[in-house]
Amino acid sequence: MRFSDIPGLSEVKTLLVDAVKSNHTAHAQLFLGAEGALNLPLALAFATYLHCENKGNDACGTCAACSKSKKFIHPDTHFVFPLSNVKGDKDEERFKADIMKSWRSFLTEQPFSNLDDWTNYYGGEDKLALISREESREIIKTLSLKPFESASKVMIIWQPELMHPSAANGILKILEEPTGQTFFILVSNAAERLLPTIISRTQMVTVPLLTDDEVKDYLITTRSIDHSRADKIAQFAEGNLNLAISLIDQAEDGNTQRFIEWMRACFTRKYGALVSLADDYHGLDKLSQRNLLSYSINMMREALLYHAKATTMNRTRGDELEFIQRFSTVMTTDKIEKSYKLINDASYHLERNGSAKMIFLDLSLNLSKTLNP
Ligand SMILES: [Zn+2]
Repeated sequence: MRFSDIPGLSEVKTLLVDAVKSNHTAHAQLFLGAEGALNLPLALAFATYLHCENKGNDACGTCAACSKSKKFIHPDTHFVFPLSNVKGDKDEERFKADIMKSWRSFLTEQPFSNLDDWTNYYGGEDKLALISREESREIIKTLSLKPFESASKVMIIWQPELMHPSAANGILKILEEPTGQTFFILVSNAAERLLPTIISRTQMVTVPLLTDDEVKDYLITTRSIDHSRADKIAQFAEGNLNLAISLIDQAEDGNTQRFIEWMRACFTRKYGALVSLADDYHGLDKLSQRNLLSYSINMMREALLYHAKATTMNRTRGDELEFIQRFSTVMTTDKIEKSYKLINDASYHLERNGSAKMIFLDLSLNLSKTLNP
């Protein structure tokens, strides 16, 4: 991964490159971004850049170091990432070798993905993923070694907020007195869950979400999506490239039709229809369920904007706009806000692997009550 493989973010890239050129790179950095920010790819590109033997404003991409970094096998780049239990594998050594293989192919195939994608990729159980205490021992052991090939070592810790407390304490000690040869890059999407002691020991690099135009441009040039579709996907992805990529495979307009049908059934209190819709949604894959809810949240926000006459901020067009106009006339601000919160809560429960059928049914009944007080 090089900087040029990552869309947008030119300011952050320049900042990182300039720091290396002027020898001012902090030894412990925290790449912080909202869900969907490209801070992991940026950390990978930064490691490639540090090791590159022939760097300019980006890594050269062709030197020996770069060709190893490209396959994520550079011996001086170390990765720490959360894992949950994996069913039926008791052989620890084999598991370790396999998981590194999976990690490398995951980064190669889906470099803009998130933790859920990673857990699905290696077949982790649904239990919460963690960075274990053993892992922290491994880190300390690794750091006691000199760099193999490069002038420095890079340790990328993905999702440090998921560190087991004893792992976090071990890391803290090292962050207090980092050795000259090691660069730590902590990559987090949840600042509020990080230990304050970790935040205070690292230099923060804020990684913004992409703009709609950057997402759109990526979809058109790299994924060959046509303009109007790219425009639509970018609107809903709101800077989250991973979400945008997942939307490529979604049937176009599926969610618009679904949402309209759903809201109609809620409004008219057709409970039989709501039960069968909940069944339908239950049958969707997890990604589609998630997308339906985030689509619905977006539509509520659009309705609110329309209501507040902030139409210049509206992002809907065509069918959707028509629906939003009609929808807004029967909604009050209070109803929209309550519905928004209900859908948001449902989305939270769905992420935590509640039963989709119960979540959708419960949500439908509550929405129906909210819409018909
Ligand atoms: Zn190079």
